[in-house]
Amino acid sequence: MVQCIHRHTFWSFVMILVAGTANAIPAAVDPSEPVYCYCQRVSFGEMIACDNEDCAIEWFHFECVGLTPENRPKGKWYCKECTQLKKASR
Ligand SMILES: [Zn+2]
Ligand SMILES: [Zn+2]
Repeated sequence: MVQCIHRHTFWSFVMILVAGTANAIPAAVDPSEPVYCYCQRVSFGEMIACDNEDCAIEWFHFECVGLTPENRPKGKWYCKECTQLKKASR
């Protein structure tokens, strides 16, 4: 019976992994649904907003900018483009 429990835990783990990948996003995306981020996908999971008011994209998926809920930035956050723009303007 212990084996059954292990098996169940294993599959729960796999499902969490699958749910965390892009493959979990339905292929048929509603065209009226706004898209965000570098990847031009709809919003899902944790999103972060770029603090540059003129940001072209504004909203990003955590996974696309290398963030996790654990290392969520405190205070302001700028996307890659805006970070470069700020550097260039100095
Ligand atoms: Zn993305
Ligand atoms: Zn930005």
